[in-house]
Amino acid sequence: MGDTIFGKIIRREIPADIVYEDDDVLAFRDLNPQAPVHVLFVPKKPIATLDGATAADAELLGKLLLAAAAYARREGLADQGYRTVINCNEHGGQTVFHLHLHLLAGRQMHWPPG
Ligand code: AMP
Repeated sequence: MGDTIFGKIIRREIPADIVYEDDDVLAFRDLNPQAPVHVLFVPKKPIATLDGATAADAELLGKLLLAAAAYARREGLADQGYRTVINCNEHGGQTVFHLHLHLLAGRQMHWPPG
């Protein structure tokens, strides 16, 4: 598994608009936002895809979800609602192969996604 642009952001080698950080998770604004709020939550551990996660990552994946939910609550997004998305591999539309959770908010979401 090679390094990715998100690895460079985690190591502060390239800039990003970071909105949250703890020991395990970093969150920053998506460069190409698809909603008024579009934040990416990434585990600092470089897991390439959700398919590459194992039982050993269960706590980390839980932290990723809870970090996004806590951020949404803090930012006043939770009552109106939001969407979280993890794209996996080609048909999922994944383009950056460092696992990440999209948090999208600030507009009505639609289903099914295109
Ligand atoms: P995905 O298609 O699920 O792999 O999502 C990758 C996301 O990363 C896309 O929404 C991109 O707009 C976003 N992205 C790519 N490069 C950067 C960057 N340097 N900083 C912030 N977001 C980025």
